[in-house]
Amino acid sequence: MIQDLYEKINPEFSSGDAMKIFEGTILTCDKNDTVCQYLVEKAGRIAYVGNELPEKYSKENPIQLGKKALIPSFADSHLHFSSYSLFSATLDLRAATDFSSLSELLSTYVQTSDPKVVLGFGISAHSLVEQRMITRTELDKMEKRPVMLVKYDGHASVINTAMKKMLPAKMKKLRGYNGDTGQLFQEAFFAATDYITSKVSVIALIQHMLSAVDTMASKGISLVHPAEGIGFLLDLDVDLVRLLARGLSNPFQFRVFFQTMETQKVLKRKLPRIGGCFATALDGCFGSCDAALFQPYEQDPQNKGILFYTDQQVDDFVQTAHDKGLQVQLHAIGDAAVDQAVQAFDRALKNNFRTDHRHSIIHASLMGPKSLDLCAAHGIGIAAQPALLNLNLEPYGYLEKILGQRVNKISPFRTMLDMGIHVSGGSDAPVTLPDPAFGMHCACNHYTSSQSVTPMEALKMFTHETAWASFDDGDRGSLEPGKIADMVILDQNPLEMDTQDLFRLKTQTLYVQGKKYEPGQKLPELLWNALFPKK
Ligand SMILES: [Zn+2]
Repeated sequence: MIQDLYEKINPEFSSGDAMKIFEGTILTCDKNDTVCQYLVEKAGRIAYVGNELPEKYSKENPIQLGKKALIPSFADSHLHFSSYSLFSATLDLRAATDFSSLSELLSTYVQTSDPKVVLGFGISAHSLVEQRMITRTELDKMEKRPVMLVKYDGHASVINTAMKKMLPAKMKKLRGYNGDTGQLFQEAFFAATDYITSKVSVIALIQHMLSAVDTMASKGISLVHPAEGIGFLLDLDVDLVRLLARGLSNPFQFRVFFQTMETQKVLKRKLPRIGGCFATALDGCFGSCDAALFQPYEQDPQNKGILFYTDQQVDDFVQTAHDKGLQVQLHAIGDAAVDQAVQAFDRALKNNFRTDHRHSIIHASLMGPKSLDLCAAHGIGIAAQPALLNLNLEPYGYLEKILGQRVNKISPFRTMLDMGIHVSGGSDAPVTLPDPAFGMHCACNHYTSSQSVTPMEALKMFTHETAWASFDDGDRGSLEPGKIADMVILDQNPLEMDTQDLFRLKTQTLYVQGKKYEPGQKLPELLWNALFPKK
């Protein structure tokens, strides 16, 4: 039924035959990093880019950019769209500084929203005065109705007693379940998240999604790579995002990665991409000290983190998906997990060579030299999140405590780019917020300063490289004649700013297919009628 509906929704948007000419600083983000003076948009596509305006356009009045700059619209190469939509409408705990401010945020939320079940996001032991997670019994004193607070890294949570009673018994036998403290990690966390998200109403989810699209557009984004499949019944989130993407009132591009090891689910939907985090995560994360490392964590010599799958399991999955012609993306944070991913890609490619696969690794925070070499040699991309380098919920001091000297080897962007590795920029939202200007700022101000990139390179991570990572570079990602006119006017020229100020960069106007983006996305009528038929 969903596939039928998908094919019925007409994705064509008419841009008419209107024309716009821009004059000023145009950062094309093409392969030569060309900066030029004029761009002509006609009927939703780019008709001309260059330093002299051709005679035939000379009667038109150009839009003067002045101190502003025109760039390709931004793109986000990895985020969890339904979680981000959901969490942006629930209790946000990022601002909590200690247990008492957490309690205040919780009670204000409960009073204003009156939810049956409280779902909160963004708690971090590292940014709380207490420097530890709250416990089940402490949470009981704050709230009687069922509560689950998800950690900022989206890989662990804490529950109160009412929630503990609500969760099905079989969940309590899973790895990572601790009923005493209320902490849930690994499989127990994923199962509990699945269970709770399956209770969210479809209509509420859709409304949150529509407003999330508007929020991203306000940051200049018009292309995203959402990793979906977080446990909604029948993988509803995957289908909703696909359908929504096809019928939005403003064109906005979604390239869905389905987080599953079951290739037939993806093939049945005729999706070309598989992977992401959750079911296709090879390890945990630094926040819970379960990212898989070759050498143990500094403060815990017994702990090298956790590989969720055996090498054989990863190899089999990658080979099957690769052989079916799918594009594969795997979450790997620690060097041991990154190595496992790279080895699997290497084997799959040796068994069945394919030039333009564009397989990639999400995060790849710690990479050994061998992994870097293989990524460069095979054209394996990295979906990076520069904003993680500047996350107060997971500060440098904490990473240094658990990783020692290895902290300075995290996300070696300069090295990667110099080796010719494709590095795309994303947010991993809801972990960090989708905000490419801030991502650019972090990539240009790496805490290991020798690994910083230039503003043009950072700009391309969030434009051209992300388009490349979803095979969209033929049509999008740079301002070149013939391409679709998805463009952004920035309030300043990032190439002329002090890199320390890049976070101040603002999107002034987003154009999608040559038209100004109008906030207030609507649900396609066809989808609305199918989901909520009139009685
Ligand atoms: Zn992720």
